[in-house]
Amino acid sequence: MNNVITMPDNKGFYGEFGGQFLPDELKYEFDKITDAFLKLKDDNNFKKEYEYLLKHYVGRPSPIYFAKNLSKKYGSEIYLKREDLNHTGAHKINHCIGEALLAKSMGKKKIIAETGAGQHGVATATAAALLGLECDIYMGEKDIEKEKPNVKKMKILGANIISAKSGSKTLKEAVDEAFLAYKKEYKTALYAIGSVVGPHPFPMIVEYFQSIVGKEAKEQFLDMTETLPDKVIACVGGGSNAIGIFSAFLDDSNVELYGIEPLGKGAKPGQNAASLTYGKTGILHGFKCLLLKDDKDNILNAYSIASGLDYPGVGPKHCYLKKIERVKYKTIDDKEALSAFFELSKTEGIIPALESSHAVAYAIKDSIQNKNQKILINLSGRGDKDIDFILNLKK
Ligand SMILES: *Cc1c(COP(=O)(O)O)cnc(C)c1O
Repeated sequence: MNNVITMPDNKGFYGEFGGQFLPDELKYEFDKITDAFLKLKDDNNFKKEYEYLLKHYVGRPSPIYFAKNLSKKYGSEIYLKREDLNHTGAHKINHCIGEALLAKSMGKKKIIAETGAGQHGVATATAAALLGLECDIYMGEKDIEKEKPNVKKMKILGANIISAKSGSKTLKEAVDEAFLAYKKEYKTALYAIGSVVGPHPFPMIVEYFQSIVGKEAKEQFLDMTETLPDKVIACVGGGSNAIGIFSAFLDDSNVELYGIEPLGKGAKPGQNAASLTYGKTGILHGFKCLLLKDDKDNILNAYSIASGLDYPGVGPKHCYLKKIERVKYKTIDDKEALSAFFELSKTEGIIPALESSHAVAYAIKDSIQNKNQKILINLSGRGDKDIDFILNLKK
């Protein structure tokens, strides 16, 4: 399979998905961002600085760990790509540093971003502090109340938190308000999108900065085992950690790729955030993708126990990879994810993020059915941020 497209066409489409559905005024600015990015990625000084920061600041390469105890228990060889060990505790820092460097190269003074649970906000505020940029983070009023530790972290890092008080007062409103602000400030600010979503060129930019995960993982895996994995498994919210690791294996037709979506409380509308499994084609936040909608075409509120996964849309390249059947998309529900959270903690001493626990849960389920395979999981983040929430659940 060497005919999988890696880059979008010049309008930003992967097959029928993606594109740039924007007011004219912003289209011009997004084209400038595209040009700046395409120039930057081939600039040697930029490459040196980005690689230097990944190595000495983020702590890359992240190791691959052979999960010996888990493997023995379930009958497959299970390997973890340890993105949880990155500075700030997840894969998001890889693209946040890239976006902040892009902003600087364009002469911008500020980064604008939205955040739901605060993970993208903290990673963006970190990159902004490091590179001397101002940082405005838009966050739903309800989320600010719920995610106090991340709100405190962002403030310590010097970011301004702007509360979105309309509608459901959560992620969707935060995106709406951040976008309105950006429309006024785009001459001096860059909107840093938090996953492989949004209008072109952001899916392409974020994929580029996350592809380091796949590049490292392929080399490390070959080094350790002298073969490629049979299966690569990653959780899918917007889809950035999954695209990051899949990107190195797309042309290896013997490697099966699995994207795991959150089934939440069940299959009914509003109970999950499985856009690739239950979505219909539509446009949200400036791009075309599979979207969770009701019978009247209203966008549904997405739900998952892992707030990093509860977005009603998904990256356009995932929609394309599903359509050409290169990646299989499966679901894991809240209960299965919670049980995998404890299983990895207790068998290996690694507390995974609830998001990543979805990938771990699928790997365990698959190992029980098909023994003796080599499975590589992208462990996208650590679970420290989830501990208070989980301990309150158990009461
Ligand atoms: C945000 C987040 C995700 C989901 O985002 P993707 O773009 O789908 O990768 C997954 N895992 C962790 C730890 C996160 O913080």
